[in-house]
Amino acid sequence: MSVVERQRWDVVVVGAGGAGLRAAIEARERGARTAVICKSLFGKAHTVMAEGGIAAAMGNVNSGDNWQVHFRDTMRGGKFLNQWRMAELHAREAPDRVWELETWGALFDRTADGRISQRNFGGHEYPRLAHVGDRTGLELIRTLQQKIVQLQQEDFKETGDYESRLKVFQECTVTRVLKDEAGERVSGAFCYERESGRFFVLEAPAVVLSTGGIGKSFKVTSNSWEYTGDGHALALLAGAPLLNMEFVQFHPTGMVWPPSVKGILVTESVRGDGGVLRNSEGKRFMFDYVPDVFKEKYAQSEEEGDRWYEDPDHNRRPPELLPRDEVARAINSEVKAGRGSPHGGVFLDVSTRMPADVIRRRLPSMYHQFKELADVDITAEAMEVGPTCHYVMGGIAVDSDTAAARGVPGLYAAGEVAGGMHGSNRLGGNSLSDLLVFGRRAGLHAAEYAAGFDGDRPGVTDLQIDAAAAEALRPFSAEGQEEGTVPENPYTLHQELQQAMNDLVGIIRREGEMEQALRKLADLRLRARRAGVEGHRQFNPGWHLALDLRNMLLVSECIARAALERTESRGGHTREDRPAMDREWRRVNLLCQLRDPTGGLAATDPVRGQIDLVRETTEPVRPDLLALFEKEELVKYLAEEELFE
Ligand code: FAD
Repeated sequence: MSVVERQRWDVVVVGAGGAGLRAAIEARERGARTAVICKSLFGKAHTVMAEGGIAAAMGNVNSGDNWQVHFRDTMRGGKFLNQWRMAELHAREAPDRVWELETWGALFDRTADGRISQRNFGGHEYPRLAHVGDRTGLELIRTLQQKIVQLQQEDFKETGDYESRLKVFQECTVTRVLKDEAGERVSGAFCYERESGRFFVLEAPAVVLSTGGIGKSFKVTSNSWEYTGDGHALALLAGAPLLNMEFVQFHPTGMVWPPSVKGILVTESVRGDGGVLRNSEGKRFMFDYVPDVFKEKYAQSEEEGDRWYEDPDHNRRPPELLPRDEVARAINSEVKAGRGSPHGGVFLDVSTRMPADVIRRRLPSMYHQFKELADVDITAEAMEVGPTCHYVMGGIAVDSDTAAARGVPGLYAAGEVAGGMHGSNRLGGNSLSDLLVFGRRAGLHAAEYAAGFDGDRPGVTDLQIDAAAAEALRPFSAEGQEEGTVPENPYTLHQELQQAMNDLVGIIRREGEMEQALRKLADLRLRARRAGVEGHRQFNPGWHLALDLRNMLLVSECIARAALERTESRGGHTREDRPAMDREWRRVNLLCQLRDPTGGLAATDPVRGQIDLVRETTEPVRPDLLALFEKEELVKYLAEEELFE
């Protein structure tokens, strides 16, 4: 039996990005003793990379904006597969969350009359993104961090201990969400320190997962090293289903050159601020790619598109500002048709659209990114850009109001790891607002749930701890596990996984290729059991990767299975063999669950567990929300019987 330190908390928040920190603040303010745990340094979560802004219908730049318009845009962007109640709460509450950030010290860019400035972004009818240059995520995290420090100072005054009610465990990884002996309710989290390899357990009746996305399963991605789908896999392993995992967003504009930086994001603000896309023939090709559902909202000529920047009330927006899935597919088609740039992308140009000093002021990170990484001066020449895996719309199935994960009492999820909010495609800027709205809700409900226990909290047994420790240590004894087998190198397995997902379940999908991907993933899952590492538990990146592989493989299989099942194209899921959106599929959610070979949920052995796919009918949209749309528009999205109803 291993001796592992145990600590008692009320709420454990896994992840210190925007969602996790907002959840932790709320839980602590509601009186719950709260622990936050994160893989990276405190303040370094992926959210700091967010560039463009936070979407919130404050109406500061165009008074026509309000929550109803934001709701409409979000549903259109998600092609009506959004969990509509989440989209409603998000649109209603986002402005309050932004103003709240300001009262906590966030310094947003201002309009000429001193209000929080808002910028245009794809799919948003009005300028809606509150921003801080192109470093909005950094300011968001800085502000939330500052708020946490302030709460800790208050606690110090009262208890003499800064960490008595709110503690951050940085550079630590959770490998299992633990449940009581009956396997029903959450009882804590099994964790290890990345530096020392030391195991510890945080016991708590409520765990909030806010671990972000899955991008590191793909070869070309804008995501940081932390995005290995941990929270998704932790939920699966704990018995919670994942929702609509086929929807992965490929951002249209990642860097394509040089190879070492391929995939790094070029923010949508470049297009929001007037940047245009051209092919190798110099043509602004997006005018050829406006789909029927959006035809009435987008300019038909370059002149009209250009006029919109000055006079948005009397002109339609340029098609460069279509939702991301549309732009990514268009770029893909141009490159495939032989009209790409020298390094396999297309050209994105701001140099002919704005004076150099304005570019440097409005897009400082982009200016430096291209200068330093590609030796391109974006004030004088065009950038080369192409699609990059950016965001996962699929995620843990949650209750819209409480953020409670389905089927596992005590488990909550918020931020990119949670599914439903964005439907089949997320609009830019809607993630940062999602983090704040649902981070707060998750913290609130987790704290309330934890407060419901007196002395009868779900317990963690030594047996469970031993099992979690043995699983985590497996890579050190991979050779001895199965006689005669050679350990597999985790880096090789990871590369093969990334290549397979990129090539076979990427931006354009085909039935045969997805079947091939599933065979490859099954093989990788078996080989990952033999993933072996050398050396010690002290900071050992190979070991960390070997543990992350379990998560990436589970999540990738969910993506591939759901993508194969959904025989239509919608948002972030494009099938060459089924190119049209099918209204009947709007009624279908696909849920992935992990079953052990005996049929029970929450397989303890991830290698032998099977991913099951279950179809579920989506909840009908509330009539007053449907009334926000014209009937003619609804006809494009809703199934026949829904229209009838
Ligand atoms: P994160 O911020 O990623 O935090 C995840 C946390 O979980 C981290 O602290 C990590 O260490 C921790 N973690 C993960 N696994 C474990 C584990 N096993 N154990 C312990 N801790 C763990 N969205 C917008 O709305 N506007 C933008 O302008 C915008 N720009 C973007 C620019 C870039 C380059 C990228 C890549 C994304 C951008 N997005 C933007 C998307 C947005 O940044 C993310 O969706 C969002 O930040 C996710 O936040 P989160 O709180 O869910 O997760």
